[in-house]
Amino acid sequence: MNVKGGCRCDNNPVRFEYNKKPFEVHYCLCTDCTDICGGALAVIAVLERNAFKITQGENKVANFDTKPTCHRRFCKECGCHMFLYVDAFPDHLLIHVPTLDRDQDIGEKPDRWVFVKSKHPTVTLPDDGLPRHPGWENSPNAG
Ligand SMILES: [Zn+2]
Ligand SMILES: [Zn+2]
Repeated sequence: MNVKGGCRCDNNPVRFEYNKKPFEVHYCLCTDCTDICGGALAVIAVLERNAFKITQGENKVANFDTKPTCHRRFCKECGCHMFLYVDAFPDHLLIHVPTLDRDQDIGEKPDRWVFVKSKHPTVTLPDDGLPRHPGWENSPNAG
């Protein structure tokens, strides 16, 4: 597989890709993920770091730490938050799924909601049957 994504720049966008099915995908409602993107929820794919590479525009990638342990990479031109590194997961990186090109199979489906206790008050979660966890919870895939 070869899944591609990028930032919102029209000229010389940051582009990246991965070549292995994500370890897991989840919906995150934590205030770090949501506030930084201006969205009410984040869809996050967890990937092995060695399956991921930046293919274009790497010089435009900047970092913002929403926690000392959470390193978020964004495009310094368009502001798009694309992926992040979390110290607790040294072998993985986390991608904001909506930054992936939409016309492709990303390799995995969301399996749970995490940080539900941080849900924005305007949002109602869909009745999708997925497990909902008040804070972080590892994927059932993690076993
Ligand atoms: Zn950009
Ligand atoms: Zn989050």
